[in-house]
Amino acid sequence: MAALDTAWAERWLRESARVIAEHRQELIDLDRAIGDGDHGENMDRGFAAIVAKFDEEPPASLAGALKMAAMMLMSKVGGAAGPLYGTAFLRASTAIGDAEALDGPAVARMLAAGRDGIVARGKAGPGDKTMVDAWTPAVDAAAGGADGHAALSAAADAAEAGAQATKPLVARKGRASYLGQRSAGHLDPGAVSTALILRAAVTATAE
Ligand code: ADP
Ligand code: MG
Ligand code: MG
Repeated sequence: MAALDTAWAERWLRESARVIAEHRQELIDLDRAIGDGDHGENMDRGFAAIVAKFDEEPPASLAGALKMAAMMLMSKVGGAAGPLYGTAFLRASTAIGDAEALDGPAVARMLAAGRDGIVARGKAGPGDKTMVDAWTPAVDAAAGGADGHAALSAAADAAEAGAQATKPLVARKGRASYLGQRSAGHLDPGAVSTALILRAAVTATAE
């Protein structure tokens, strides 16, 4: 298992870009059901921009990698998800500070800071059928991790379960809330993209 260092952060973001591109159509279809159908396109554009940036200028630190990602997501993604993910990565970067590698508690702090940023910006709570429903169980699960890898793994599992659990919910925040009861019966696209990104963090622990 590789250290959760700068190289890992770069692999994480590149792997996120790969899985987001792979699931682009699925995210579009989910957002078409309860939103405006652009989530896959928005996320793919943002993560492709991160990869282009890294190709040009490899990140010099762990926090720097996440900060670069935040800047690209804020400037390229647009919609609700851009500023929300941008804030998450920016707060996560600040939480990491000058750490050269993350252990279990540092992973838990990084994810909590990201989730707190999303909540500060979007004001959604658990059960509102948003990406918060993937982030919050992930943060809770990461807190028990014996080391960085265990914390990430538990977070990814919990995010996937959290995303699946958005299906019966009625949206109370974001565009899907305009549908009221008709938003029930569909997965929240942002919760699904969150689960993909957190799984990518685990995949990136293999060198
Ligand atoms: P838009 O809705 O502007 O088209 P996207 O389609 O890219 O933006 O993103 C939609 C996702 O953003 C939703 O599936 C949901 O997870 C998330 N979202 C929307 N509003 C909020 C909010 N207030 N708090 C947290 N997440 C939100
Ligand atoms: Mg949308
Ligand atoms: Mg939109």
